[in-house]
Amino acid sequence: MKIGFIGLGNMGAPMARNLAHAGHSVTGFDVNFDKARACQDSLAVANTATDAATSQDVVITMLPNGTALHQVAVEIVPVMMSSSCFIDCSTVDIQTTKRVAEMIVAAGLYGLDAPVSGGVSGATTGTLTFMVGGAANTLELLMPLFDIMGGRVIHCGDVAAGQAAKICNNMILGATMIATCESFALADQLGLDRQRLFDVVSTSSGSSWSMNTYCPVPDVGPQSPADNDYLPGFSAAMMFKDLALAHDAASMTNTNTRLCMLAFQIYQQFASKPEYAEQDFSAILNEIKNTSLKA
Ligand code: NAD
Repeated sequence: MKIGFIGLGNMGAPMARNLAHAGHSVTGFDVNFDKARACQDSLAVANTATDAATSQDVVITMLPNGTALHQVAVEIVPVMMSSSCFIDCSTVDIQTTKRVAEMIVAAGLYGLDAPVSGGVSGATTGTLTFMVGGAANTLELLMPLFDIMGGRVIHCGDVAAGQAAKICNNMILGATMIATCESFALADQLGLDRQRLFDVVSTSSGSSWSMNTYCPVPDVGPQSPADNDYLPGFSAAMMFKDLALAHDAASMTNTNTRLCMLAFQIYQQFASKPEYAEQDFSAILNEIKNTSLKA
């Protein structure tokens, strides 16, 4: 297929490379030309988003937020080939996803929202999980591309259902990471060995991905950013962004998500500190340990 790929950052670059290495003709674009140039070994590089999107069977976007997605969609939808497909893999707000979907339909194109889980390592190894919103037959048509970039594809429902699933998942992730870090902080104060806490919780009712797979303390559990000075991984700034999306979605739908609101506030404070924003989100352990209840 002829593919335009817009947004060649930490996630987009390896995804675009995997498509190119599988034999597709990929033309990439990024507003940061250094990012685009770094992909020149595998892809053709365009000077504008419209150049990257013109005459392509499929255009994929992997952008930082809804504002960037909307801006790119306004530029490229009018030049996209009729009956071609627009797949957005970014994590963005539900309203922007719906607005962009309306533009896509009005232009006679096909579209999917397909945010991902699995991080940079999943993008590099082609093992991402895709959460897809949109028509089942469009997904079926594009499955060969998803199979190259990912290990699992879940059709979540109609337009924006993929974003909804991503937002709901990361809301749980933010809350369980805080809970896991608080339990380690309390264990430290109670004189309970960290390894023993891991051994119990990881096989008991308190287990979660945050404890079992991504343990936030060094030298306990499988390798995680805690074993690498909290280099991300998944940055605190990104967790804050995803909790802000959950916060907005809950406000928009008048849903009682008090724990999510609290997690949102906790990560807002944490990510606003320059020394923490680019650390892994599990480094919130240190913030919890450095503050006392009375402070
Ligand atoms: P990134 O910041 O590394 O990459 C985004 C790229 O988009 C940047 O290179 C930027 O220059 C480019 N860009 C911004 N505006 C643009 C525009 N108008 N036109 C063209 N390019 C533009 O971010 P990332 O880590 O690659 O994440 C991308 C998306 O994937 C985000 O929505 C993020 O929430 C989501 N995500 C990231 C991870 C992760 O672990 N990094 C995991 C799951 C989902």
